[in-house]
Amino acid sequence: MRVLITGAAGFLGSHLSDRFIKEGHTVIGMDNLITGNMDNIAHLFGNEKFSFIKHDVSNHIYVSGELDAVLHFASPASPNDYLEHPIPTLKVGSLGTHNTLGLAKVKNARYLLASTSEVYGDPEVNPQPETYWGNVNPIGPRGVYDEAKRFSEAMVLAYQRYHGLETRIVRIFNTYGPRMRLHDGRVVPNFIYQALVGKPLTVYGDGSQTRSFQYYTDLVEGIYRLLFSAEKLPVNIGNPTEMTILEFAQQVVKVAGSKSDILFTEPGQDRFTDDPKVRRPDISKARRVLQWEPKVGLEEGLQQTIEYFRNRV
Ligand code: UDP
Repeated sequence: MRVLITGAAGFLGSHLSDRFIKEGHTVIGMDNLITGNMDNIAHLFGNEKFSFIKHDVSNHIYVSGELDAVLHFASPASPNDYLEHPIPTLKVGSLGTHNTLGLAKVKNARYLLASTSEVYGDPEVNPQPETYWGNVNPIGPRGVYDEAKRFSEAMVLAYQRYHGLETRIVRIFNTYGPRMRLHDGRVVPNFIYQALVGKPLTVYGDGSQTRSFQYYTDLVEGIYRLLFSAEKLPVNIGNPTEMTILEFAQQVVKVAGSKSDILFTEPGQDRFTDDPKVRRPDISKARRVLQWEPKVGLEEGLQQTIEYFRNRV
């Protein structure tokens, strides 16, 4: 297959590019580099199956030749990033989704959207099945990301229903691993960095909010299966092992062999506004339609990720 991956220089886009190339496909990577990093794909340069176009997909996209699949992964994804780039985040989720869908339509390519557990907002149902409609504040600071992704999903379904486009939607839950940016502001790099340099781990609020963390290899496997599956409606891909952020902090300290303390703190600048109090994927659908479930436990995934960050601190 000849595949376009938007956001290819990002954490997930670069790992997906690796996977498609490993499977023998040809990948065209596209990224505007506002949060992507060329270091993530530097190893692919010189590979005849990979090419790169620096472009902002919120503007008209031109790709020559045939395409068999379009995977739309471009978007800021860390709350710090989308609070800093609210308008590009809204644009890439709306205009970028429209442009990539239009491209998939003219190329008669299969389309896969990277959606998110943020479509469930601050959920009143836990765990969240795909049938849950969510609890999102459209005008809150996180609304720029959540509503962009909800709009993306609506647009994808419209192309599926009205243009007959073959589309897939993955709802990605918190994912971590090598190639996250050390200072992207998300909890995994923050805590690992703090643990490695001996600073206190900054737990926001009382740390009773929960998340469920999956290692990136599990996600990549789920996405690869979803693209080739017959499932046309959204599928959650995440690890259902839920824990409080305080427990997560303690786990990072332990696995890193660190002496860091825990610091309970309130971050400024809207960072904690509308922070979901719980989050856990219901993965019955992924189990049923993709025969998929996560394989990598937290300790193993954290060890690999800590190793990666250790070399960068
Ligand atoms: N968080 C924290 N300390 C940090 C960074 C994040 O306690 O230094 C918390 C944050 O408030 C949230 C959770 O960790 O409850 C996950 O945050 P993250 O930014 O990784 O992503 P989110 O799941 O909110 O999109």
